[in-house]
Amino acid sequence: MTATETERPLTIGALALQGDFREHLRAMERLGARTREVRLPRDLDGLDGLIIPGGESTVMGKLMVAYDLVQPIRDLIARGFPVWGTCAGLILLARETDNALAGQPLLAAMDVRVCRNAFGAQRESFEAEISVPALGDEPYHAVFIRAPIVERAGPGVEVLARIETGLFGAPGDIVAVRQGSLLGTAFHPEVTDDPRFHAYFLDIARMATAAVRADAALS
Ligand code: GLN
Repeated sequence: MTATETERPLTIGALALQGDFREHLRAMERLGARTREVRLPRDLDGLDGLIIPGGESTVMGKLMVAYDLVQPIRDLIARGFPVWGTCAGLILLARETDNALAGQPLLAAMDVRVCRNAFGAQRESFEAEISVPALGDEPYHAVFIRAPIVERAGPGVEVLARIETGLFGAPGDIVAVRQGSLLGTAFHPEVTDDPRFHAYFLDIARMATAAVRADAALS
């Protein structure tokens, strides 16, 4: 691989139907990525990764169905395409939620069960320093806004961070997960100045792109 290939700027999209997609795209631009707002299936063409932002997962799910985005995103994920869901986006990536009876449309791509609005009314929004070993020793300042937690994670899912709330017992509730090229965070990295989660997702996208290119070279 030549230097020019390795340094090619990645293009990261954010689902722009609802929620705080702009903040994610600004954070990616600060890291040198190209960005795109995604509203229609054709906007997915040529992307290196997609962010599904925080917002309201029931509304976003319905809009994804209305704009015919569910199947194209599922097809991309099946081929190893990187997707990062934050808060409502994590709910949409999950295989299962505690809200299943409401028929909420999900991408059902990550082997996790999430509990929506898990922190309840008194603590709907709060901030906490959490430990995320994958990002280094420095604690990560996480902003939770009516956040979900991951109640159950399958064997192929790497737990990146937990928070001690006592809600679901020891060793703490899961708030960040990774499964292959899929990343999920219950909190909102786009509302702080710490770029480490956006950089981490860019690394996932860079590796996935390299793997797809290597596959193409072998076939
Ligand atoms: N509680 C919201 C939901 O269930 C998520 C909140 C958020 O994304 N900040 O969709």
